[in-house]
Amino acid sequence: MKKQEGNIEPLSGKPVRGRFAPSPTGRMHLGNIFTALMSYLSVRKSGGQWVLRIEDLDPQRSKVEYARQIEDDLHWLGLEWDEGGLDGGGANGPYEQSLRGDIYARYYKELLSQGVTYPCYCRRADILATQAPHQTDGRVVYSGACRPSDEPPFVTPSNVGCRAHSTRLFTPDREVCFEDVVFGLQSANVADVCGDFILRRADGAWAYQLAVVVDDALMGITEVVRGCDLLLSTTQQLYLYDLLGFDVPRFAHLPLICNDAMQRLSKRDRSASMEELRKKYSPEEIYGVLGYAAGLLPERCLCRLDELIEQFDWQKVRKEEKIKIEEA
Ligand code: GLU
Repeated sequence: MKKQEGNIEPLSGKPVRGRFAPSPTGRMHLGNIFTALMSYLSVRKSGGQWVLRIEDLDPQRSKVEYARQIEDDLHWLGLEWDEGGLDGGGANGPYEQSLRGDIYARYYKELLSQGVTYPCYCRRADILATQAPHQTDGRVVYSGACRPSDEPPFVTPSNVGCRAHSTRLFTPDREVCFEDVVFGLQSANVADVCGDFILRRADGAWAYQLAVVVDDALMGITEVVRGCDLLLSTTQQLYLYDLLGFDVPRFAHLPLICNDAMQRLSKRDRSASMEELRKKYSPEEIYGVLGYAAGLLPERCLCRLDELIEQFDWQKVRKEEKIKIEEA
């Protein structure tokens, strides 16, 4: 069995190019802010750059009003980005995924030409493909019903254009490993994690897994910070990095911020939404709560952003999958 190694280098002192990549499908909550904050702190501590990318691939759920609100909330918090956003300047734009279709098409064609994809006429997972897995929960391992034969290269049938179909990527029996900055050495078999996964839906929408890899690579991102519910997605993404020949960033997955019932926060937890938080707390209070939750501060206190940058160190970050935040 082939083994693939992602980034297993130790942390270097080089300036980090990080990103925050929210999906504009609702108001941000404390969990989203935690992700943004940790990425921001790592970038600022290293003297690097922070990119804001709007992940509005899902045309049904994404709204520009939500994207504006996310920007407004980041400004209120004092988390200023160097590049990207809705009106974003920068050399690597556009920074809204809905405007990057031509770019995804280029890399999609590259994968088609490698003979590692095939048309799929199954409908169910189509709907899920544009969303990051944690938004849908239940991970679906594809049965391979439409796979033309056991091994690539696949020959695309000549009548492929006639029926609406999604396009799947063949996943091999391959162990993929990488050193996560927080959770340490990770290893998973890419075929077991998800089976052959979707690159493009039947309606033409691009899948999250393809878009996120292409964007992180072309935007020169060197550090990806996100919730640990996406650890397994990293396996899929590393496989894509390998096929497309991109440099691999390092990954830092974070504990999930949970409600009293120890469920990860969702848009339904209204008390943790930015709308409520902005009424009740100052940014310094929020930084105190999150800095303590992360393991950066010895106690919950008021904390300025510059103080938290000073305290930031990946080694201190708690290696727990879930963290409960108590109401003040
Ligand atoms: N848009 C994804 C989300 O909000 C981001 C996933 C990632 O950071 O790769 O969940």
